[in-house]
This record gives sequence, structure tokens and C-alpha cells, in this order.
Amino acid sequence: PAVIVAIDGPAGTGKSSTSKAVAAQLGLSYLDTGAQYRAITWWMVNNGIDIADPTAVAAVAGKPEIVSGTDPKAPTISVDGTDVSGPIRSPEVSSKVSAVSAVPEVRARITELQRSLAASAENGMVVEGRDIGTTVLPDADLKIFLTASPEARAARRNGELKGADLHATREALIKRDAADSSRKTSPLAKADDAVEVDTTDLTLQQVIECVVTLVEE
Ligand code: C5P
Repeated sequence: PAVIVAIDGPAGTGKSSTSKAVAAQLGLSYLDTGAQYRAITWWMVNNGIDIADPTAVAAVAGKPEIVSGTDPKAPTISVDGTDVSGPIRSPEVSSKVSAVSAVPEVRARITELQRSLAASAENGMVVEGRDIGTTVLPDADLKIFLTASPEARAARRNGELKGADLHATREALIKRDAADSSRKTSPLAKADDAVEVDTTDLTLQQVIECVVTLVEE
């Protein structure tokens, strides 16, 4: 039977690396829901939508066509047929994505996409995000909530963004987590039945093994 694994947590906890590796090891599909929110944000920025105006964002939430490729070894994301894997990681998109994803019409749209992708994954799927265990897939077979100290998270994110300033990275991450945790619709939160894993002092390999073991139990 198809197995659904929900992996939630803030940025810089190793969520993406862990989720991809677990999915690849277990032969499951993989969905990066943050990439979907980044993609819709990229489209809004590109089309001159005023991100600070939730009504303007809501009015066009249904417009862009967002397609996710769910192979964990080569995940892809496109908007209206254009591959946006690179541009969605820009500092501009990172700083605007929390505001866009706080708009209920945006969440409704993206949540529907996520549920239909999960339902059509033959062997099952590892779905990573902020509200997967609480809202998107509350019946997931396994829910993981990853945490790590702000220092560890900023250091990891800095390793990905070559040449970035550690202090600035830490401040930006903390600001984004605060926004994601305080929004009214489906905030970043641990589901009551999620297993919390603090990754601060663990290597990526240890986190992967921990999650694989939990799936196989
Ligand atoms: O995972 P990533 O850091 O790429 O996510 C980018 C942003 O997308 C988050 O900071 C959050 O604002 C939003 N997001 C969300 N719900 C999810 C996944 C991501 O609101 N399930």
C-alpha cells in the first residue's frame, strides 16, 4: 500500500535533504511544498502584483499553472511551462514568500495541488513543508517534525548560499519562521502525533537513518 510521510519544520533543519534521501531510499515520490509557495511568489513578483496587498494576491491566486516533478533524484518545479528551480531560491523570493503564503486563497489553491499529487503517487510520497501533518495530510502514516537551533540552521543555510553573511542569514531565517508560525491559516506547527527530531547535533546521514527506521517500524 502507498505510504505517506509528512516532514515539517522550519528552514535550515535539513528537511529537503532528508526528505529527498528518504524518498529515494524507499522508492517513494517526493514533494517540496515550499517550492510550490516559492513558485507562486515568483510569479506574483514577475507580474508586478503588490505582495503587501492580500486582496491583490488573492485575486490572482488561481492564475499561474504550477507543476511539480516528484522524482526525489531530480525534482522539478515549473510555472506556466517555465522551469523556475533556480529563480525561486533568490533572496527576493525568500523574503516575500511568507506574505504570499499567508493568503488563504493561495493556501487553498496549493493545498489542493498537494493533496491530488499525494493521492496519485503509486508507491506513496514524502511530503515536506510547514503544515503537512496538521492540515494538508492529517492522515499521513508517519509525521516527523524537524527542529534545530537557530545557529545550526543559519550555518546550514549559509553553506547552501555561497558567500552569504551569517548574521544576515540568521536574521532572515528567524524573521521568516516568525511570520510562518504566526499566520492565521495553517501556521508552521508540529502535529500532536508527530515525532520531533532535533537535528542540531546530528549529521544528515543520522537524520536520514532515523526517519527511514521510523517509516519501516
Ligand atoms: O521550505 P521552504 O523554506 O522553501 O519554504 C518557503 C516558504 O514557503 C516558507 O517560509 C513558508 O512561508 C511557505 N510554506 C508554507 N507552507 C508549506 C511550505 C512552505 O507556508 N507547507
